Amino acid sequence: MTYTESSTCELAVIGTGMAGIAAAVFANQHGISTAQAGVSGGILYASGYLDLMGVHPMTVKKTWDDPWQAIAALVKDLPDHPYARLSTDDIRNAFDQFLETLDAAGLPYRRDPDRNTRVITPVGTVKPTYAVPASMWAGAAGLAEKTPCLLIDFWGLKGFSAIQIAETLRPRWPNLTCARIPFPSVTLTVDLFTEQMARSLEVPANRKTLADEIRPHLKGAALVGMPAILGMHRNAEIMADIENQLGCNVFEIPTMPPSMAGLRMKEKIEAYLTRQGVSLFSQKRITRVQREADGRFTLTISDPSAKDSGHTLTADGIILAAGRFLGMGLHADRKGIRETLFDLPVHQPRNRAHWHQEDFFDPAGHQINAAGLEIDDHFRPADRSAKPVYDNLFAAGSILANQDWIRMKCGAGLAIATAWGAVRGFMKAMKKSELGERQP
Ligand SMILES: Cc1cc2nc3c(=O)[nH]c(=O)nc-3n(C[C@H](O)[C@H](O)[C@H](O)COP(=O)(O)OP(=O)(O)OC[C@H]3O[C@@H](n4cnc5c(N)ncnc54)[C@H](O)[C@@H]3O)c2cc1C
Repeated sequence: MTYTESSTCELAVIGTGMAGIAAAVFANQHGISTAQAGVSGGILYASGYLDLMGVHPMTVKKTWDDPWQAIAALVKDLPDHPYARLSTDDIRNAFDQFLETLDAAGLPYRRDPDRNTRVITPVGTVKPTYAVPASMWAGAAGLAEKTPCLLIDFWGLKGFSAIQIAETLRPRWPNLTCARIPFPSVTLTVDLFTEQMARSLEVPANRKTLADEIRPHLKGAALVGMPAILGMHRNAEIMADIENQLGCNVFEIPTMPPSMAGLRMKEKIEAYLTRQGVSLFSQKRITRVQREADGRFTLTISDPSAKDSGHTLTADGIILAAGRFLGMGLHADRKGIRETLFDLPVHQPRNRAHWHQEDFFDPAGHQINAAGLEIDDHFRPADRSAKPVYDNLFAAGSILANQDWIRMKCGAGLAIATAWGAVRGFMKAMKKSELGERQP
């Protein structure tokens, strides 16, 4: 297909962040012909951890070991939260099927299906999450078991300090030591970037030099933690090689954005979805949507850097997973907050004076972070009288109202679960078989 041709599909997914990816995964699994367009979203900044539900109520910062109990409490207290439109079984099914797909795409995850796991952040704090990239799992286990561990950082890699992480973690993980080492074949004065480092470790000779640098610092450590730089496409193989050379387990710690975990997810899942037949318009924006007389939508897909008129896609239905302000699904200006493609009604504070609390760190959060699209039970954006604006337009992810995923620690969970709800809504509207039973 050349870029200027037109095409048709059953479902168009707007957005290639976590919610858009999950929607494309579920639609494809159910045999729906799917096209997807978007520019890299928050996924490039993501740590790789998939949070389901970690903190509720936000005001008292209560953290939960059991995410399912947390969701039950949340839904009781905040019945407008998007999770309230899904059953526990829906959310479990959504996660199970999404993790299976990540595995098939070459991104294995580990979890306890009924518990949150405590994991290490790039600055050494600990947070609850639900699913953990396999490359980071040994760190969570080491933290729980207080295994003697060596943390490594590199001359020239900014924003990742083994000493800072160790000092922050030491009250709960006493057996930590640190070392700063040179990165193979790079002089000490050069700035290092995680993507370059990851690609360079695809070369076996560089891995041998790295292991040789680390070995003298081991001094009894049974585990080695490093920034997430251990390969781009062959992470498992590269880790196994380094573990073999060191004779102990190794784990990755997420770095500050942009992160390898996010890049890996984006590249692997996009390649997988394309192989599965999803028409992917990567790094493209929808610049216009028009509703046809027969109810279908015609979307104009454009390359932000090109001057041609774009590709025309006609779809029976749309899932809008365009994110919030970072993704550009919402835009805030002096008049208020608006949805950028359809001009849908946006649930928002009365006026700008109510957007933010005076105290930036107010535990109640800022009202602007709960702005977004209100939906009905089928995940269709609704108007002020709670009626769907269009019967074949659905929404998923952070663009939805009445949630503050950053503070509640439910970013990926919200994206995955609501994508499930939106695909189910689409299937109902199109009178396709029920989503929920395990179908291909
Ligand atoms: C720094 C950072 C760290 C994070 N860490 C975690 C974490 O540790 N755990 C966790 O669970 N989650 C984390 N997340 C959150 C998670 O990765 C998702 O960003 C979040 O769940 C929202 O996803 P989304 O798909 O709804 O929106 P976004 O990621 O914002 O994606 C929106 C998409 O819509 C596209 N779009 C918008 N308008 C158009 C248009 N007109 N045409 C085409 N495409 C359009 C954008 O290009 C983008 O692809 C993190 C996010 C960030 C930013």
